Amino acid sequence: MANETPKDHKMKLAVLTSGGDSAGMNAVVRAVVKGGILKGCDTWIVREGYEGLVRGNTEAEAPLSPIRSANPDVHVHDPSFIKNLRFGDGELLRDGTGDHRGGRVLERPVHCASRLGRCPWVVCPGEQADITSGSSSDTYSQGGTLIGTARSKAFRTPEGRLTAAYNLIKEGIDALVVCGGDGSLTGADLFRAEWPSLIQKLRAEDKITDEQVARHGHLKIVGLVGSIDNDMSLTDMTIGAPTALHRICEAIDNIHSTAISHSRAFVLEVMGRHCGWLALLAGVSSGADFIFIPECPPQSNPWEDEMCKAIQRHRDIGKRKSVIIIAEGALDRDLNPIRAEYVKDVLVERLGIDTRVTTLGHTQRGGRPCFFDRFLPTLQGLDAVDALLEATPDKPSYMIGISENKITRVPLVEAVKMTKAVAKAIEEKDFDKAMSLRDPEFRESLEGFIATSTLESEPRLPTEQRMRVAIMHIGAPAGGMNAATRAAVRYCIRQGHTPLAISNGFRGLLDDNIYELSWLGVDNWIVRGGSELGTNRTLPDVDLGAVAAKFQQHNIQGLMMIGGFEAFNALLIMENGRKHYPAFHIPMVHLPATISNNVPMTEFSLGSDTSLNALVDACDAIKQSASASRNRVFVVETQGGKCGYIATMGALAVGACIVYTPEQGINLDMLRDDVKFLKNRYNLDVKGKNEGRIVIRNEAASSVYTTEVITKIFKEEGGSLFDSRSASLGHTLQGGIPSPLDRARAVRLSLKCMAFLEKYNEILRKHSQRSKVITGESAAVITIQGSGVKWVPVEEMVAHADMKNRRGTHTWWEGAKDLVEKLVARPQLI
Ligand code: ATP
Repeated sequence: MANETPKDHKMKLAVLTSGGDSAGMNAVVRAVVKGGILKGCDTWIVREGYEGLVRGNTEAEAPLSPIRSANPDVHVHDPSFIKNLRFGDGELLRDGTGDHRGGRVLERPVHCASRLGRCPWVVCPGEQADITSGSSSDTYSQGGTLIGTARSKAFRTPEGRLTAAYNLIKEGIDALVVCGGDGSLTGADLFRAEWPSLIQKLRAEDKITDEQVARHGHLKIVGLVGSIDNDMSLTDMTIGAPTALHRICEAIDNIHSTAISHSRAFVLEVMGRHCGWLALLAGVSSGADFIFIPECPPQSNPWEDEMCKAIQRHRDIGKRKSVIIIAEGALDRDLNPIRAEYVKDVLVERLGIDTRVTTLGHTQRGGRPCFFDRFLPTLQGLDAVDALLEATPDKPSYMIGISENKITRVPLVEAVKMTKAVAKAIEEKDFDKAMSLRDPEFRESLEGFIATSTLESEPRLPTEQRMRVAIMHIGAPAGGMNAATRAAVRYCIRQGHTPLAISNGFRGLLDDNIYELSWLGVDNWIVRGGSELGTNRTLPDVDLGAVAAKFQQHNIQGLMMIGGFEAFNALLIMENGRKHYPAFHIPMVHLPATISNNVPMTEFSLGSDTSLNALVDACDAIKQSASASRNRVFVVETQGGKCGYIATMGALAVGACIVYTPEQGINLDMLRDDVKFLKNRYNLDVKGKNEGRIVIRNEAASSVYTTEVITKIFKEEGGSLFDSRSASLGHTLQGGIPSPLDRARAVRLSLKCMAFLEKYNEILRKHSQRSKVITGESAAVITIQGSGVKWVPVEEMVAHADMKNRRGTHTWWEGAKDLVEKLVARPQLI
């Protein structure tokens, strides 16, 4: 069969969302549609998942009465399920959200952005905006999926898939992006595998022509994982899982106060039929006492003794609250389900603890997507389009994933196979295998949970291997600093080390502000923002000799510094000081924590996720206000020092139309183009409808073109077309309560830091003359690079640091600024 597509053929791509809804699906649709248009594709959406594919564009054939969508409260009024998103062709895209706004389907005419030529639409909540808008009416801030999702019985049948294939071919669509959970991607994989036989059958039935056979011989298909459970193998994260984790942690954070007040236990059931990721991560990042996950049931049989022993130990040392988290698919080692009500009964009957059950249910799915569920789907959606464009019949279909910080493509079939293998391993009671099939981060998180929640009767290390470990915060506060400290303290106690807090950085050390931390004393630190130890920017060279003397006086044998650029600098100073001061012949680590994310060589610092979530929250509120009264451009100023990370990533996540960074600076030509872009953009908007737009400016982007100056320029130039205002987010970006991802990452990295200190302490301990064996490697920074965690000796970091501007010489996110502009079609509109 001929399956070559003509070279000049314009790819027609469709995107659908399927299975359970998840936050971030709208951002996927937006990114795929915009990415497709930018790459010259004809872009379509399919409503109601596979069900829409099976029902097809039935308008011409049999008028349909309103069809119930996956959401029973929403009716889809438009009978066509497969919709070409096209400008100026008289069609209006209607989504079901009109219904809950008083039964009115919102419509408005859209004018053609002529520079983009035949420019399709992107689906917008309750109203339509074109892809160039970058306006307040974007889809980012909405949870769920605005193009609808469904669980389609018909698509599970060969006849249903045959009809789906026919509907795609009828519209000339040759590429499909499927965003859904493992079921949806299994369906996608099957559809792709069956495609040649479906084509043959359709030809045999004379439903398609030879020409169509030749053109559609190969279905290009790409999967994006939209699932709140994070249950797909070969990707670290699925779209919607971080937001669900936010919802769970918000609930647990709220429960803490009532639990403490009444000295109660709370048993929380969270989603996750076959995957314990939500329960595990919620356990790690909320400081729970005990968790139940399907992949790793409690070791003892019966498990009730193990749980009661753990909870009682915590109570014995004075803990007033207990939190137990259960994944809905939790099992014991004999595969009997473990139910929240039963766990409650056990706690009440055996320990006499007043216990309540809270089932979070569908609240976990809902709400505004967090930063990560805007950022990840945007990058993955754009990559999906590239993957489709590069697809050939001899290449496998890909699933777009993420590994640490890298967008990855893995064969869809492999990912589906491996995901099923986890369920099979659980069924076969091979829990070691089930754990080994999860990604390394999952395993490390479980180790982290055990290390930070299990009180043991005896320290694990012999006396001679124990250390006095000092922990210090340096620089500005950042979300996760306290969580990292708590994890380090608990690890130390478990091993037999002595955890020492140095309060108020090097100044505090010089004032002997140093004390031992206890297991219970740090209990609530996991959810606390700011710095419990106190932090400042003083460096050890304030008096290096005196600092060394204090190290000696307090017999410090290992040091962990948590902070930003100053902490890196401090480590460098002390490493250089080793020549003169033997007190520094100890292992020393720096765990990067700064909202600016300006520490060289690491792609993430603790606190930057918290900060981006604060920025997203603030910008959502500002956008609402910006479009409330008239056309208005808000110039939002962010912190970040000389590093534009927060500004750029924030701009990408909130759909800002311009971002100013210190790396690029600001000049008059740029401002002239920006004014031109804004004027052209506002001229394309619908008259009479207010649009708010966001411009993000890093505080140090220019000393001349300040936020005030830019706001005044925009106001002056906007004339009657648009107004301009400014907002400075300032210290709100430090974010209050740390985000769950920052907390979980803090635990994971902190434990790696402790293992590092132990490793080098052992090397040094075995030699009487430490100066002979001490190397630069024992003073290092823990970094996240690409898809792994790497230790970089501080000396090596210097080559990658711009010491004057206090940032790295290389920034992995550089391309994101271009992406922000591309997504609002700035290049076409200036
Ligand atoms: P979630 O993780 O939220 O449950 P999911 O994608 O796993 O999402 P499912 O209900 O399992 O949700 O699958 C969604 C749809 O994908 C199904 O309704 C069906 O149409 C299709 N699908 C699932 N499995 C298959 C399969 N084996 N063959 C064909 N289609 C399938």
